[in-house]
Amino acid sequence: MDNNFSKKRENMVLTQLWQRGRIVDKFLLKVMKEIPRHQFVPEELIDTAYEPRPVVIGHGQTISQPYMVASMTQELRLKPTDKVLEIGTGSGYQTAILAKMANFVVTIERIPELSRGADKVLKKLGITNVKLVIGDGTIGYPDEAPYDKIIVTAGAPHLPNAYIEQLAEGGILVIPVGDNNFQELIILKKEHGEIIKNIKEGCIFVPLIGEDGWRG
Ligand code: SAM
Repeated sequence: MDNNFSKKRENMVLTQLWQRGRIVDKFLLKVMKEIPRHQFVPEELIDTAYEPRPVVIGHGQTISQPYMVASMTQELRLKPTDKVLEIGTGSGYQTAILAKMANFVVTIERIPELSRGADKVLKKLGITNVKLVIGDGTIGYPDEAPYDKIIVTAGAPHLPNAYIEQLAEGGILVIPVGDNNFQELIILKKEHGEIIKNIKEGCIFVPLIGEDGWRG
């Protein structure tokens, strides 16, 4: 049974990530070959886990398609010493990848049931370097700041100030910003106190809902 999934996973990494030529981080490719994405999707959708599209995870939310997960992660240029803040735990799939590549991950989710579900799967996989927080991620998480990297996996109407404040010097923030139907993936770097912004690609995410995001 799991053999079948590991074949699908290998194929996902080969055809959706490696052969497209844009995902070149070898360690990221290795991690995505190992993390069992099917364990993060609802039982009835398990067969769709490795397809090149988002998967519904309940409560009106989705896990992004594998390419988008890889692309955002690659932009973070993760180091084994990094402390990472993730906004939008969702299923916990992206969290698991971050946890394998960085030192410590703080992940915030506004829907308690999703956070609890993610916690269960992460524990089952033996991933312990993660702090799961239930709450509004638009204000970041000052208690553990500063963060070397911040990744937002929901679409924001604008760039929340908290992320710039909580990003360490030399840090990188990856965030989709735009309207409800289309966003641009923004890569922001804090270098010598200056903010350098680049737009990577278009994307479509569920909304970032909260005090400094969309109103729910
Ligand atoms: N990264 C997730 C994964 O791997 O499954 C997918 C994230 S899903 C595209 C976006 C998530 O952001 C949803 O679970 C949603 O509930 C959450 N979200 C939206 N607004 C939020 C907020 N202000 N704070 C925390 N989580 C939020």
